[in-house]
Amino acid sequence: MMRSLSEAAAEAATCTRCRLAGGRTQVVYGVGNPTADLLFIGEGPGFHEDRQGEPFVGAAGQLLNRMLGEIGLRREDVYIANVVKCRPPGNRDPMPDEIEACTPWLVEQISLIQPRVIVTLGNFATKFVLNTSTGITRLRGQTFTWHGRTVIPTFHPAAILRGGGEGSRQFEELRADFGTVRATLDDLERRAKEATEAPPDEPIALGEDEQLGLF
Ligand code: URA
Repeated sequence: MMRSLSEAAAEAATCTRCRLAGGRTQVVYGVGNPTADLLFIGEGPGFHEDRQGEPFVGAAGQLLNRMLGEIGLRREDVYIANVVKCRPPGNRDPMPDEIEACTPWLVEQISLIQPRVIVTLGNFATKFVLNTSTGITRLRGQTFTWHGRTVIPTFHPAAILRGGGEGSRQFEELRADFGTVRATLDDLERRAKEATEAPPDEPIALGEDEQLGLF
């Protein structure tokens, strides 16, 4: 039996596998529905996340919430995690050995949640999932398959805010990618429904004047 997400989070809370443990206020494990169909993966906690213990609660989180709202979702409907679970000092990029040390937490998280769709926010998360060095600008706008799941890479919301915010081309591209997320979820739902709608036991025998379309 695998342990639960909350058991994993409790163990992660005392993690000292890398140097980031020394500078954190707390581990930011993840938040949301533990059986979500949709998982978002960001880079790592920033100042506010480190203080509050929750991913995407600062300015980037506001933009994420807004995009979620535009496709009819709330934070509680999805799960939100990061590649690294502790804040890098001064919000620097996470280092390769820090990512490596933190990887087992995210791998376990994904296997416990079993999301159908994974949205990677920015280069670090996209590289983690797709194992590619191709940049996000070239990858976004496409969908990928990973272990039977749909992966949708898009810009990191913080990068959108740095690069002009609302009205910028990247903002509209982010919005379009969320549209792809909505369409992918709708498609999954439709297929699941089709699979559960059992075919009729017997073919319907229509009389000569009872053909479909006549009444
Ligand atoms: N940026 C991230 O990548 N993750 C967060 O949780 C917040 C900001």
